[in-house]
Amino acid sequence: MERKNVWETYNDRQIKELEKLCAGYRDFLDNGKTERECVDTIVNMLEDAGYTELQKAVLKGGRLKPGDKVYAVWMNKSVAIYRLGRRPLEEGLNILGAHIDSPRMDVKQNPLYEDGGFAYLDTHYYGGVKKYQWVTLPLAIHGVIVKKDGTTVEVNIGEEEDDPVFFVSDLLVHLAGEQLDKKASKVIEGEALDLIVGNRPLVLSENDKEDGKKEKKEAKEAVKAGVLDILKKTYDVEEEDFISAELEIVPAGKAREAGLDRSMILSYGQDDRVCAYTSLKAMLDVGKTERAVCCILVDKEEIGSVGATGMQSRFFENSLAELMELAGEYSELKLRRALARSCMLSSDVSAGFDPSYASYFEKKNAAFLGNGMVFNKFTGARGKSGSNDANAEYMAHIRKIFEKKGICFQTAELGKVDVGGGGTIAYILALYGMNVIDSGVAVLNMHAPWEAVSKADVYETYRGYKAFVEEADLT
Ligand code: MN
Ligand code: MN
Repeated sequence: MERKNVWETYNDRQIKELEKLCAGYRDFLDNGKTERECVDTIVNMLEDAGYTELQKAVLKGGRLKPGDKVYAVWMNKSVAIYRLGRRPLEEGLNILGAHIDSPRMDVKQNPLYEDGGFAYLDTHYYGGVKKYQWVTLPLAIHGVIVKKDGTTVEVNIGEEEDDPVFFVSDLLVHLAGEQLDKKASKVIEGEALDLIVGNRPLVLSENDKEDGKKEKKEAKEAVKAGVLDILKKTYDVEEEDFISAELEIVPAGKAREAGLDRSMILSYGQDDRVCAYTSLKAMLDVGKTERAVCCILVDKEEIGSVGATGMQSRFFENSLAELMELAGEYSELKLRRALARSCMLSSDVSAGFDPSYASYFEKKNAAFLGNGMVFNKFTGARGKSGSNDANAEYMAHIRKIFEKKGICFQTAELGKVDVGGGGTIAYILALYGMNVIDSGVAVLNMHAPWEAVSKADVYETYRGYKAFVEEADLT
């Protein structure tokens, strides 16, 4: 089947629109490096677009009408966004879904220690990472520390030009003969991913030194004491407060245009914020629709969609029940019907074909950067294990919509059969009996600290999502 490079299809107006969308996307990446930061950014965008918080709408009472816009946030990490259509919810929604968590290193609950003159934060990696990629990079700390009195301290260090950054060390090559003979999965082990956060001892003032014993004791861990002193002065937090903190270690720095032709974006966290942003933008930009439109942006996909903020949580279903109640059409049966009659694009990044590693891909069924939005009829590993395998009828329906709207798309699998695989949130929504298909954007070096996408694919995917929410309907 013929492949088309979508850049060749654009006119000047489209290029301008593409650049504007991608500039907004880069801002989104820079402002949302954790799921909490993403939700904050998304809520700001929703409020600007006239959306109301669902609980506020519930408290206010009254009846929602076609075109009304509401959103529900769950634990500051997941969000469900709705816009009512002209037809009742019972007839089904057109749903866009993506995840906003990304692989990273999380700070442990008892993290701070001193060794060899360095203060360290001990970490536990989150999601699938090649651990050796996370050493000797400038890293930033993002997250929250919640104190016993319930106040939340927001932390964001390492992104501003004059902020300090942090790093994980690696053995110098001169001494690495034995290390380099190890398997790549063992070269850097999980417990070696400890973050260096200081090297300067706290110098006690004369007043503090009156008691000779005390002086000696404190000098033992003076670098750690120095770090704690800074944390106390800057954030008014104690060492014990790490117990109730969520601190994420991510690559420091902004999303950048990549290539002399500026055709790509290189950034941390594009899995899956590239689909989250394009889904959200499509939803915000679409006009009034027949069917209700929904966008679900969730946490915890990288560790199996578990927990209260992952897709397996009842949070989405509950918010839809609330919405139906507000629209004056709730019943358990109508909720079931609404879910079963919905159409969903479960969006996640796809493995972009990498010529340097061509043997891991099956070229006819690989996603290429610059060839448009990707559909994966199925994902999974080995014999499609763990996959949502979309119906041919549904794929045909989408083909028709995309052809009508002139959207370029490609179909792909995640690498060669038997080489590996991966899962998404698709199978979870499919539990309701709705039509779901995996789709999204091709990414090069997925799950690496810096991932690459094609700007043309970002634009084409945005267009595809918009076409989908306007047109999809299998009832
Ligand atoms: Mn993903
Ligand atoms: Mn992933």
